[in-house]
Amino acid sequence: MNTEVLTSSPAQAQQRDAALVQPQDAVAPKVNLMGMSRQELEQFFEAMGEKKFRATQVMKWIHQFFVTDFSLMSNISGKLREKLMARCEIRAPEVVHRHYSKDGTRKWVFRVGDGAGSLVETVLIPADDKTGARKTLCISSQVGCALDCSFCSTGKQGFQRDLTPAEIIGQLWMANYSYMEEVAIAERERTVTNVVMMGMGEPLLNYDAVLSSMQIMLDDFAYGMSKRRVTLSTSGVVPKIDQLAQDIDVALAISLHAPNDALRNELVPINKKYPLAELIAACQRYLAKDGHDSSRRHVTIEYVMLDGVNDQPEHAQQLLKLLKNLPSKINLIPFNPFPHAPYGRSSRNRIMAFQKTLSDAGFVCTIRQTRGDDIDAACGQLVGQVADRTRRAAQWKKKVEQQHVIMRSSS
Ligand code: SAH
Ligand code: SF4
Repeated sequence: MNTEVLTSSPAQAQQRDAALVQPQDAVAPKVNLMGMSRQELEQFFEAMGEKKFRATQVMKWIHQFFVTDFSLMSNISGKLREKLMARCEIRAPEVVHRHYSKDGTRKWVFRVGDGAGSLVETVLIPADDKTGARKTLCISSQVGCALDCSFCSTGKQGFQRDLTPAEIIGQLWMANYSYMEEVAIAERERTVTNVVMMGMGEPLLNYDAVLSSMQIMLDDFAYGMSKRRVTLSTSGVVPKIDQLAQDIDVALAISLHAPNDALRNELVPINKKYPLAELIAACQRYLAKDGHDSSRRHVTIEYVMLDGVNDQPEHAQQLLKLLKNLPSKINLIPFNPFPHAPYGRSSRNRIMAFQKTLSDAGFVCTIRQTRGDDIDAACGQLVGQVADRTRRAAQWKKKVEQQHVIMRSSS
């Protein structure tokens, strides 16, 4: 593992340079243009009395050329550049660590917020195929998570706050930027081909910021990603799935993990509010939405394999029934343990038997490869560091300490 600690991000360095030429009286907090969608930028420029097309020019500078210093934006008049320098900034979250795994997985740890702030994590996973062309970035949407799924270490951190749009899209910006820094100019191409909103947090509970960020991902003046290559993963916030269907067309993944309500209530507590029948119906509505290319569309079903808990033959049978009328691909995720997790990982044989039952019934069912576990970058291992630890994190710590006492006294 190669770990590099940075004192400041390239964006900050450029920002400092920009600050040197700012008028001394510019004291109002600056507007960060990093997280603005095209529509928001257009409104921003119009409010400044400028032409709308400035939005696309600035978007290209930020997201395609990685320029954060307004003085370098050569197709913008000197006068407007000065105005922008005085009022605005372009700032990605600060990178405090970079970790490179033996298997090619990379992880960036970002500091968000003022002062010591909190840490969130972003992971780049290269495809394990011959070409290695696919590189998937797993992006976080919140610091911690309020939903407390029983097998997820992010949930054990409790919830601290939502990430801003700049902090969300800034993860993609920084992953691409750091690749640009590290490879020869002749080989430069954008490194990230796919994005999954599967890092820390529940993206549908930070809806507006996640929506703006995904709009920027799809925008031809920014990253121009295909809508099939941007996936939002949710544990099942039903009303927000319907809203998403209205607002944007991206791939949808559902963290299902259990084929019946009793078990899902235990593993994914939001199920008590939005039970399986409602969740499956929302997925069907999502696929049926006008304009969505339903003939080729499916939902990805994520299913973590917990030894002896949800991995038995009867669970596979129940899953078949549940998904009968939902075009879906199933991704089995071997459980990634974290300290004092109350579960174990299902055996390889058990996972393969589960897969066979689903495949034999005609489902595309894959087993997720565990990547980057030498740098704690595997699913559910993204814990970041919540500076102001919440009550849930304190309770979890207490439980772990009690377990230590029990273990010590019984040995
Ligand atoms: N909150 C969203 C997105 C982030 S979680 C959601 O739950 O979908 C990303 C994926 O990792 C989810 O499918 C989640 O259930 C899974 N995951 C969480 N903890 C895990 C663990 N310990 N081992 C394996 N997968 C885990
Ligand atoms: Fe939150 Fe997703 Fe983890 Fe559940 S699995 S606690 S929703 S991040």
